[in-house]
Amino acid sequence: MKTWIRDPIAMLAQGGQRGLVVEGGRIIELVGPDGPVTPCDEVFDARRHVIIPGLVNAHHHFFQTLTRAHPKAINKNLFPWLQQLYPIWGAHLDRNCFRLAVRVALTELLISGCSTASDHLFVFPDDMADAVDIEAEEASKLGMRMTLTRGAINLGFADGGIADQRLMQGYDAVIADCERVLARYHDPSDGAMLRVALAPCAPFNVTRQLMIDTAALAQKHNCLLHTHLGETRDEDDYCLHHYGCRPLDYLEQVGWLNERVWLAHGIHFNDAEIARLGKHRMGICHCPTSNMLLSSGICRTKELEAAGVTIGLGVDGSASNDSSNLMESVRHALLLGRLAYDASAITHLDAFRWATEGSAKCLGRSDIGKIEVGYQADLACFTLDELRFSGAGDPIAALVLCGAHRADRVMIAGQWRVTDGAPVGVDLARLRDEHGRAALAFLANV
Ligand SMILES: [Zn+2]
Repeated sequence: MKTWIRDPIAMLAQGGQRGLVVEGGRIIELVGPDGPVTPCDEVFDARRHVIIPGLVNAHHHFFQTLTRAHPKAINKNLFPWLQQLYPIWGAHLDRNCFRLAVRVALTELLISGCSTASDHLFVFPDDMADAVDIEAEEASKLGMRMTLTRGAINLGFADGGIADQRLMQGYDAVIADCERVLARYHDPSDGAMLRVALAPCAPFNVTRQLMIDTAALAQKHNCLLHTHLGETRDEDDYCLHHYGCRPLDYLEQVGWLNERVWLAHGIHFNDAEIARLGKHRMGICHCPTSNMLLSSGICRTKELEAAGVTIGLGVDGSASNDSSNLMESVRHALLLGRLAYDASAITHLDAFRWATEGSAKCLGRSDIGKIEVGYQADLACFTLDELRFSGAGDPIAALVLCGAHRADRVMIAGQWRVTDGAPVGVDLARLRDEHGRAALAFLANV
């Protein structure tokens, strides 16, 4: 079946004035002014739509949808924010509410125009040994691509860390499950719906040995590595105090300075460190919304890109954002970039590039993130019908500048997964109700 997605208002692609042709989950033609060269079986009328590549979210913590705007955590910087939330998560998180959290986060991402998600999952209370499997099931139900980012915490209060003991797993359990989920879910092939990356949470809550051994495992299985780094000055102080060096030096000591690695945040790097990150072709997932909310600082995106670092975009956890809307983060990336640099230095096209091909590259993918022949047919289609767009000139710029926040249609691997603004097969009212009720437990005193 060949489908001509016909005559969009505009499309974020090189060429394709009259749309594109999709077959078997791939883009097979960008259509020129004379119409498709390929004979098509069906036509989708896109005259109401602005089409962009499906957005790619390179950093998130799905479980945190259960503690959005938590009264004990609001108005705090990262470390005190974490210190408030760890015991709350430790007391209440279980596999039932976790599944709802995953479903909510994925659905929110999807209707914001996201086609590929990654979740940095690092909490494994006793009854959540199969948490990665739950994520794989939920992503598959929605038809979304996902990098299952298998995290861990194995350093808690008792060992000088700040995490709650109930969320931790021992070293052996972590390594065994990394091996298990790699064998079960990691699909390195072109067009893969599921991949696995290994992701000890952060230098301040995992052991040195776990960092070293996950790097070796990643090499053995040819998968990527992910962790938080350079998020706060508190992290700098922690590393200097406990390891006698700055966070990036520590990363080098444990074998993590290479192109397998993409880091979340990457704010507090000095010039020499930025050059080292670029030399090793590493990726940084910029999380502007979270960085603003927690007052963490501003990622030096321009300097990092100039040094050769790939910049991707992520919403970060839904308790430090507190939404999972990736289009909203595209706008925030533009606005925060404008604050840090000049008005012409960061454009809406830069912000889109980070959220599409940049994030895709962070996730090690060269088959998604662009509307180009041979790429996967992952598309986000927005209408300009809302009042907020009335009077807009440049339709692509309007999505960012006027604040598009909900896609009308999303296609993933050639299948429509959002139609008329609604995720296919999801009862949104029921999901809102079930998740909201599950989240009430997290407000109880602990
Ligand atoms: Zn994070």
